[in-house]
Amino acid sequence: MRVFISADIEGTCGITSWAETERSTPMDYAPFQKQMTREVAAACEGAIAAGAGSVFVRDAHDSARNLDPAGLPESVRIMRGWTGDPLSMMSGIDQGRFDAALFTGYHAWASSGGSPLSHTMNLRNEYVTLNGVRMSEFMMNAYTAGYYGVPVAFLSGDKALCGFAEEMIPGITTVPVNEGLGGAVTSIHPAAAVKQIREAAERAVRHASDCAVPMPDRFDMTVRFREHPRAYSKSFYPGARLEDEKNVCFSSDDWFEMLRFSHFVLSDP
Ligand SMILES: [Zn+2]
Repeated sequence: MRVFISADIEGTCGITSWAETERSTPMDYAPFQKQMTREVAAACEGAIAAGAGSVFVRDAHDSARNLDPAGLPESVRIMRGWTGDPLSMMSGIDQGRFDAALFTGYHAWASSGGSPLSHTMNLRNEYVTLNGVRMSEFMMNAYTAGYYGVPVAFLSGDKALCGFAEEMIPGITTVPVNEGLGGAVTSIHPAAAVKQIREAAERAVRHASDCAVPMPDRFDMTVRFREHPRAYSKSFYPGARLEDEKNVCFSSDDWFEMLRFSHFVLSDP
């Protein structure tokens, strides 16, 4: 059995401010870099206990160089840095066949009150909608897993995102570690998070076959940019249209085309 893990940091237990997510502010960042590594290690250990012969970890935050590889189990393979392909936070999932995808440290979508750090890919948009629903990175990356036929079995992160995930994928196992309120976060203890992730990831991987991602026949995405000049410029992506001064829309029945749009329009610096 092969397991794929995509690891972000803004849903790591206790994390509250941007300084805690950035390498440039090491005093704030270091404790959460350590906790992120502990949580990913726990998910790996759970997957291995459930029978995963191979675990592929994709570091998926900012520089994509956050995890301390020495803190992960020895049998794990780790992808660090950005490939530059449209799979983005899911790069590597197209390499051979995976039996389950797990998400750790994920956070609520742009405009959500579920985390003071809520965003979707970057801070240049107010929100993104997919088929009329405010799109999180989890939603996007779950469809990427689904596109490659990989069930999405596990999520840890904030409570708002866990609630969404349970509606999107009824068989999923979640561990809510944080609950946002305005600019604050109430969390469980970091050691409790590690313990719960270890146990829940094991259960989740055992039941991964119940967690197929329901794929829509058609995808309609709207990116609501903060700055109208950016929206105008991005509306020249082939097939995209400017809906009003700040909204760029794109539709396809092929999820990879949505990822290609996201790569050049939503995520592009
Ligand atoms: Zn992140």
